[in-house]
Amino acid sequence: MIIVVKPGASRDQVEKILGTLEQFHLKAHVSEGAERLIIGVIGDKSRLPPGALELLPAVEKLVPIMESYKLASRAFRPEGTAFEVKGVRIGGTELTMMAGPCAVESEEQVDSVARVITSCGARFLRGGAYKPRTTPYSFQGLEKEGLRILRTVADRYNLLVISEITSENDIDYASDYIDIIQIGARNAQNFRLLSAVGKSGIPVMLKRGIAETIDEWLGSVEYIMSEGNYKIIMCERGIRTFETSTRSTLDISAVPVLKSKTHLPVIVDPSHASGKAQYVRPLSLAAIAAGADGLIIEVHPNPICALSDAAQQITPDEYRVIADEVKAIAEIIKRTYPQ
Ligand code: PEP
Ligand code: MN
Repeated sequence: MIIVVKPGASRDQVEKILGTLEQFHLKAHVSEGAERLIIGVIGDKSRLPPGALELLPAVEKLVPIMESYKLASRAFRPEGTAFEVKGVRIGGTELTMMAGPCAVESEEQVDSVARVITSCGARFLRGGAYKPRTTPYSFQGLEKEGLRILRTVADRYNLLVISEITSENDIDYASDYIDIIQIGARNAQNFRLLSAVGKSGIPVMLKRGIAETIDEWLGSVEYIMSEGNYKIIMCERGIRTFETSTRSTLDISAVPVLKSKTHLPVIVDPSHASGKAQYVRPLSLAAIAAGADGLIIEVHPNPICALSDAAQQITPDEYRVIADEVKAIAEIIKRTYPQ
């Protein structure tokens, strides 16, 4: 259920609502929009005596939320969510460009990519330090050394770092190096990890599980939000279907569907969705045209020698072309492209 608070309600009146919820052991999540204050209520509502909330002067209306996800529901923040990560805005009208290699391999490798993406408007440097590989015999990532390289290079170019964490044990250490924690497709329903990143308060990008429905994915989001962490980006990265021409099938419909179901920003990963460098450009353009809030793209200075995902990484020069075309689409759909 959400409580829509009357415009102009006083602080005391809002406190009275929150006090009533606490009295009946209900959890309140407050969302302060530009026009309206909305309180999400989680817990057993049958504890409330009839009229306990309805009769409070600041309550405009109570709206039940039928979906199994509550805080992620569009009703909780009808105007949509935009938030800042160290001064960089995500969501809203400006597009967010994230790029970098699949895995951190060396400082030179990351630097050569960071230099180009910075000049093309990207504000976030990606790179895997802890790699969730399908077999234990593949390159597993440079781990702590990888995080150190990412931070060093990002600071050199005034970029922010997004990188994947696969265990709750790594959150504390990684928080010194990472600005946005990525939860990968393979951990999309690792609920203890989701709760732990929720408790950390660090912004999170949650990728869609390989075979996760949109409602299940929103359930995963809810694990993070219910711990009080609302700085979440949802990342569509393709789902497993019967089609084998691409590594996964980019669910482009997920973009407008998410826009109607949730208030959270949505970013598309055309690299893991297609698994093939040649399809990254058309899928990037389609994603932005469909209303995505940004892209995360794998870029490597020499893709054929990459230690992971060699087939899907594009070169810095190819990235430049995509960035220019995304900029052109942004203008048509009235979004701004980062300078
Ligand atoms: C990644 O982005 O490095 C990654 C492993 O992606 P996904 O979890 O979507 O497979
Ligand atoms: Mn990859």
